[in-house]
Amino acid sequence: MKILVINSGSSSLKFKLFVLPELSVSASGLIEEIGDERSPARLRYQTGPGDTRTISKTLHLTEHRQAISAMTELLRESGTMNNVEDLAAIGHRVVHGGEDFHEPVLLDAKIIHTIEELVPLAPLHNPANLAGIRVSRELAPDTPQVAVFDTAFHQTIPEHAYLYALPRKLYKNNKVRRYGFHGTSHGYVAGQAAQYLGRPLKELRVISLHLGNGASAAAIHNGKCIDTSMGLTPLEGLIMGTRSGDLDPAILFYLSRETGLDMDGLDRMLNKQSGLKGICGENDMRQITESAARGDNRAKLALTMFCYRLKKYIGSYMAALGGVDCLIFTGGIGENSSLVRKMSCEGLQPFGITVDPIRNDQHHQNTYAIQAGESNTKILVIPTNEELEIARQTLQVITTTPLQPDQM
Ligand code: ADP
Repeated sequence: MKILVINSGSSSLKFKLFVLPELSVSASGLIEEIGDERSPARLRYQTGPGDTRTISKTLHLTEHRQAISAMTELLRESGTMNNVEDLAAIGHRVVHGGEDFHEPVLLDAKIIHTIEELVPLAPLHNPANLAGIRVSRELAPDTPQVAVFDTAFHQTIPEHAYLYALPRKLYKNNKVRRYGFHGTSHGYVAGQAAQYLGRPLKELRVISLHLGNGASAAAIHNGKCIDTSMGLTPLEGLIMGTRSGDLDPAILFYLSRETGLDMDGLDRMLNKQSGLKGICGENDMRQITESAARGDNRAKLALTMFCYRLKKYIGSYMAALGGVDCLIFTGGIGENSSLVRKMSCEGLQPFGITVDPIRNDQHHQNTYAIQAGESNTKILVIPTNEELEIARQTLQVITTTPLQPDQM
């Protein structure tokens, strides 16, 4: 039996097929540019570790329904999944679970309705996730389907950290509060860290830095998240590829008055034209690092600002946790950029955080430690694996929850 994990974005569909009981990967794929009239969708597909053939295709896919059919066909053609009866369950990534979901749940009509009600909080993400869920339920009506929420891990954050200093009624009436995202990744790497260190997570103070195109930090105390940098939406906190992260909210009033930018224009500017891209015109950290090495001053500034913001979050979360036992770098940048790791920890030696330059420059496939011998805090580089975590949580749900007819 197998578990299929589906992560549907607004114009993309990522999928991974895991074989029970070890949850080894038997196939994975990515379909991009779904619904783009001007260019055909691109599909990359790879079968499991024993067979590393990569199939690349371009297809005309106008919607998720067709993308999921294309995925099913590929899985059939390649012999990795003969029919949907091979599936023990399908696990779906859902970005926003609001305050309704603290853990993964079996999907039924009521749960789907609740996810729909949360669309205003995640207007780009939840509709795409719902499209994936609906089509999967039609294609595999007898297969249990589970929703795993990005926000769920952060539901342990206490009130004093999740509330904004705004009129109370905005929380009560409009659900305005910090929710946090990347929860599946933060939870996964924290678990991996405890395993690597051979210590119970329940006894560790962890700061997890998920640095990809989107980036967030989480403070995890004895296994529970107590604070995170993303807020009501994924815009707050660290500097990201194209998102500003923290800024003085009055900048928006000022710009609106001075430049006449309307709400959509401001939204686009903060989400798509800011962050690394706004600072130096480039949002890909690889390119930025290369340009900085060639002496490009804007690229150097972008790197410095990115790492300075990170360092401030490390410091504030050390204060929130009362110290830190383990600092984790993950995500495309965290896993691959030794320069970002070095620069964001520079000057933190008095607080027990010291990166070993040689360990930091070596790259390994699995978890590895980069702290210097005398450093009190363990500094780990951990490849994240959100799909595996979704598969694990999906398995956990289907083995512990009795199924009702509507939940299949
Ligand atoms: P997403 O958030 O879309 O899942 P990823 O976690 O894949 O993104 O991270 C993408 C980021 O990782 C990009 O900025 C990319 O440049 C960066 N990255 C990947 N490899 C390297 C590398 N070797 N050095 C520096 N940055 C890297």
